[in-house]
Amino acid sequence: MPLELAARSGLIEPSATMAMGAEAKRLKSLGLEILDFSLGEPDFDTPANVLEAAIKALSSGKTHYTHPAGIAELRQAVADHYTRHHGVTTDMSQVVISNGAKHSIHNALMAVCGPGDEVIIPAPYWVSYADLVKLTGATPVVIATTEASGFKLSPKQFLEAVTARTRLLMINSPSNPTGVVYERSELEALADAVLQTDVGVLSDEIYEQLTYGDARPTCFATLRPGLKDRTITVSGVSKSYAMTGWRIGWTVAQAPVSKFMGDLQSQETSNPCSISQWAALEAITGPQDSVVAMRAQFARRRDHVLERITKLPGVTCTPPGGAFYAFLNVSDHFGRKLGERCVLDSTSFCMAALSSAKVALVMGSAFGAEGYARMSFAADLATIDKGFDSLERFLAS
Ligand code: PMP
Ligand code: GLU
Repeated sequence: MPLELAARSGLIEPSATMAMGAEAKRLKSLGLEILDFSLGEPDFDTPANVLEAAIKALSSGKTHYTHPAGIAELRQAVADHYTRHHGVTTDMSQVVISNGAKHSIHNALMAVCGPGDEVIIPAPYWVSYADLVKLTGATPVVIATTEASGFKLSPKQFLEAVTARTRLLMINSPSNPTGVVYERSELEALADAVLQTDVGVLSDEIYEQLTYGDARPTCFATLRPGLKDRTITVSGVSKSYAMTGWRIGWTVAQAPVSKFMGDLQSQETSNPCSISQWAALEAITGPQDSVVAMRAQFARRRDHVLERITKLPGVTCTPPGGAFYAFLNVSDHFGRKLGERCVLDSTSFCMAALSSAKVALVMGSAFGAEGYARMSFAADLATIDKGFDSLERFLAS
């Protein structure tokens, strides 16, 4: 008899972003030229000073188990960052280093959610949120936001969704997949609504250093007194420092939540990679000029992408204020035959774009928003131009 899977196995789908990224890579390995805008990962190299710190860690024997919640130096540096830059006095005991921000989110949800609980997730949401909530036994309560509201959750929507079972609100600004950055005043209004309830907040601020033009990131926990006691802040080095493969993320939370997360890691993964932790320490405490340079490149690409979208037939987009995604409204094409395929929804649209235009995008349905396709512009300008040339021909076909 084959081993029977636990009921839990039915709770999750494979991550659609990872799946589209793998499919684009597979087609490339067959020799096809794929214009790949699927995965959200910086195409830049990890900065040289960070590489040097990793080599130093390797050659100086920093290759053993560390504290399950991370090396003291890195936890202290993260705490200092929140104390100095965000004005929220943070102690090292509140910081837990994990194997990437995805792991941080999973462990944070494990700490505070369980069967019977509800978690409010505004859609469009990052692909992993709903499934990670389901793994804890809790129920994701997805609240749709619209282009008309700038893809932002209003305090009224939040309050209407709260029940006696609501444990958490998940917010993400700058957002993946829309690139939307809430104004500080909008988050203050949301914070006031949260404070009328007993609901906690998981604020995913992983794109905090990647904002453009007038858009500014806001650290949610700092907005109102008392908010930091019920907020779990998530961030990490993957996006800002082009360190996706190093797997370092963190949470800042109340000490008991952090204590549980550290204990959980002591049982499940022991510690995040020791070498990556020393590299991350250099990333956040060393020179920041590489972040400035990468942000400037992303800003240029964003402007270029927006300009090219205006020429794409039947496609519109809410301009992203941060991150590196354009969330394309492609619903005008539903019901049409594009290439060899009849396009009925965001999945068939993306499959047609991949097979006919050789352009890899991710379907909006994976982000809880049918009618859209996400383009990651973490690609060089030449690739972006080729991609748009191909999409123009494809959509006019
Ligand atoms: N949150 C958001 C919104 C993301 O886009 C990502 C991208 N992977 C993560 C968390 C996870 O980051 P990491 O690669 O550090 O796990
Ligand atoms: N966060 C990135 C994305 O949305 C990387 C893939 C993933 O972690 O799901 O594409």
